[in-house]
Amino acid sequence: MPRTAVITGSTSGIGLGIARAFATDGANVVVNGFGEPAAIEAVIAELSALTTGKVIHHPADMTRPDEIEDMISTAAQKFGTIDVLVNNAGIQHVAKIEEFPPEKWDQLIAILLSSAFHTMRHTIPLMKSAGKGRIINIASAHGLVASPFKSAYVAAKHGIMGLTKTAALELARENITVNAICPGFVLTPLVEKQIPDQAREKGISEAQVKDEVLLRLQATKEFVGIDDVASAALYLAGDAARNITGTHISIDGGWTAQ
Ligand code: NAD
Repeated sequence: MPRTAVITGSTSGIGLGIARAFATDGANVVVNGFGEPAAIEAVIAELSALTTGKVIHHPADMTRPDEIEDMISTAAQKFGTIDVLVNNAGIQHVAKIEEFPPEKWDQLIAILLSSAFHTMRHTIPLMKSAGKGRIINIASAHGLVASPFKSAYVAAKHGIMGLTKTAALELARENITVNAICPGFVLTPLVEKQIPDQAREKGISEAQVKDEVLLRLQATKEFVGIDDVASAALYLAGDAARNITGTHISIDGGWTAQ
């Protein structure tokens, strides 16, 4: 029986990389996230070619608790249970607190934090019945340290670290582990979108934004690879990680060592 992995926000970037890793490992994969229908079809076709399991897409909007419930129950009906839940969907908004639009604050907290509460509350009973499970929350170096102008993102990412620890303690005797991964900067659409804006605002080149702003604290001076994060997720989902719970793996090129 293949494992079943539900990965939120897996039509792009890190989530897609994690979906590829689980598909290559032979899992059934529930892809979630936005995109043009043709692009989503291409993702399903690519992942289906990698796995002996099945791949479906569920369009749940992570700001909508009713749609999240439908995604989890659809996965359970289709595949029987959920072995691995990866909470990954995310967006960013950069502004001073006093200029931060309140609706953006609500949207970031909903997608980056509350959605994980909703996926977890529906998935945990399935995992308890199955007697096993793995929950992996894609947090960030910003779950451990702050940067200015990213109040909602940093607050949500610190929040998911707390949710990770609490869930780990609640599930410690259930053979269900709950961990976070804290990447530094990874060149995905989420980050690439920020580069021209920052270049314009700071009056510097896009290359300077990469070197002097994004990689300023990444001691390796390298972006983290999508595959680096996907490998860690696969490891946390494996048997060798059964005694790792309530903690995080930092993949940040030395950022938070400072
Ligand atoms: P991305 O923009 O490439 O992908 C984001 C994914 O989330 C997409 O599939 C998108 O459709 C989906 N998504 C956005 N809003 C959604 C919603 N309301 N409902 C459902 N899906 C939604 O971004 P990424 O860089 O791959 O980010 C993935 C995760 O990794 C995020 O949680 C992000 O905070 C985290 N992260 C990213 C970096 C980085 O440098 N890129 C670093 C640390 C942590």
